[in-house]
Amino acid sequence: MNKYIETVIKDVRAKNADQKEFLQAVEEVLTSLEPVIKANKIYEENAILERLVLAERTIIFRVPWVDDKGKVRVNRGYRVQFNSAIGPYKGGLRFDPSVNLSVLKFLAFEQVFKNSLTTLPMGGGKGGSDFNPKVSPHTPGKRCSDAEVMRFCQSFMTALYHYIGPDTDVPAGDMNVGGREIGYLFGQYKRLANEWTGVLTGKGLSFGGSLIRPEATGYGDVYFAENMLAKRGETIEGKNCVVSGSGNVATYAAEKLINLGAKVLTLSDRSGAIYAKDGISQQMLEDIMYLKNVARGELSEFAKKAKGVKFFKGANSWQLADKIDCAFPCARQNELDGKDAAYLLKHGCKLVGEGANMPSTPEAVAAFLKAKIMYSPGKASNAGGVATSGLEMSQNSERISWTREQVDGRLRDIMKAIHDNAWEAAAKYGHKGNYVVGANIAGFVKVADAMVAQGIC
Ligand code: NAP
Repeated sequence: MNKYIETVIKDVRAKNADQKEFLQAVEEVLTSLEPVIKANKIYEENAILERLVLAERTIIFRVPWVDDKGKVRVNRGYRVQFNSAIGPYKGGLRFDPSVNLSVLKFLAFEQVFKNSLTTLPMGGGKGGSDFNPKVSPHTPGKRCSDAEVMRFCQSFMTALYHYIGPDTDVPAGDMNVGGREIGYLFGQYKRLANEWTGVLTGKGLSFGGSLIRPEATGYGDVYFAENMLAKRGETIEGKNCVVSGSGNVATYAAEKLINLGAKVLTLSDRSGAIYAKDGISQQMLEDIMYLKNVARGELSEFAKKAKGVKFFKGANSWQLADKIDCAFPCARQNELDGKDAAYLLKHGCKLVGEGANMPSTPEAVAAFLKAKIMYSPGKASNAGGVATSGLEMSQNSERISWTREQVDGRLRDIMKAIHDNAWEAAAKYGHKGNYVVGANIAGFVKVADAMVAQGIC
C-alpha cells in the first residue's frame, strides 16, 4: 500500500480504536484511492487525507423529553458536520438504539463522497439519536405514541437548531426518521428561528417538500442498476431480485423493480424475511407499505394473511431463493456477510446494487469484486435520495415546485451521471468495471480539489 495512505490509516486506527464502522469506511475508501494519490502529489503536500478523515465539527447534546406517563426521559443527540468544501453539510438524521459516534461518523464520512458524486453543491454530514420510536419506554410491546415522538423531536431540534441553517447544514431523514418526524422537527425549527426556510429536506408536500423525494433513494438504486446492466446490453425486465428491508428504500426499490417487470422475491425486517416464490405483487407491496408506515406492524403479520408468501423468523433476505439475478440490500450496515455473498454468487447473482449504506461486509465486497459481478457501493447507487434533497433545496430557494415528471427526469439523469462518472474514473485509473474504485475516486477528486483551492482551513 502507498506509504502516505498507510500512515493516515494507521493514525485513524490509533485515534478511533473503538469505532469499528468508522474504521471500516475509512479503510475501504482510502485504500481504493491509491491510484489517484500516487498520480497527484498535491494531495499529500496539502495533507488532504489527514483533513478528510477528521470531521470539521461534532456536536453531542442532551435530549430530555417527557413520556405520556409524565416521566422524564433522556437521550443522546448528535450531529457530525464532516466536510463543507463543496457546499453546506447535508445528510440524514437516524433515530435508533444502534446510533453512536462510530456509526454516525461512518455515515457522515460516506456522505461526503456520495454528495460529491451527485454533481450538486452539497457537503457531508449525518446525525441522530439513540432514541427508539419503535419501543414505548413504559408499555411493553407498544411503540412511542405520536405525542411522544413529537415531544422528542421538539427537544432534539431545540438543541440542534443553533448549528444548522439553509446555508450551513440541511438535515434530512434516515432510519426511523420519515415524514412524521421531519414535520415535527421542521415545525420546531420554524418556531425557534422565526423564519421559513428549506432547513430540512423530506418535508411534506404542503410545506416545501419535493415530489419523488420519498421514492428517490429506492428508485435511484434501480436506475443505477439499469445503467450497469445497459453496459452489458441487458435490462432489468424478467430478473429475479432479492431485496432486504421493508422501509423507505426497500419498498420503493421494490416498487420500481415491479414496475419495470422484474420479480421481487424477498423483503425483510427485524422480525425476519418473507419469500414469495412468484414474486411480490404491486398490491402486496401496497399492503406492506400500509402495514409498515401506517399500522406500524411487522412482516410476520403480513405473511400470516398473504397467499404464496412464506415467513422465515429472524432470517435475512439472502439465502431463501434458488435462482437469483440481482440483490438489493436496502436495510442497514453490514447486513450481508461473506457467507451470504457466497450463496448469492452460487445461485447466479450477477448484480448487487446497494440501497443501504455499507450493507456488505468487507468479505462480501471482496467476493463480489473477485467474481467481477456488477457491484455498486451504496455511496453511488443510493445517492438518488440526497440528490433529490438537493433538488428540494433548489425548489425551496426558488419558491417553486417542480412536477413529478420533472423531478423523476432529473433523478434519472443524475443516476446516469453518477454511474458514468464512476465508470470513467475507474477506467481512467486502471480498474475498469470496478464501481468501488470509480465512485471513491470520482467523489474524492472534486472535494479534494476544492479543499486545495480553499487553502489550509
Ligand atoms: P427505514 O425506513 O427505517 O427502514 C429500515 C429497514 O431496515 C426496516 O425494514 C427495518 O426493519 C430494517 N432493519 C433495521 N435494522 C435492522 C436489523 N438490525 N435487523 C433487521 N432489519 C433491520 O430506513 P431507510 O430510510 O429505508 O434506510 C435504509 C438504509 O438506507 C440505511 O442504511 C440508510 O442509511 C440508507 N439510506 C437511506 C436513504 C433515505 O433516503 N431514506 C438515503 C440513502 C441511504 P423494521 O421495519 O423492523 O425496523
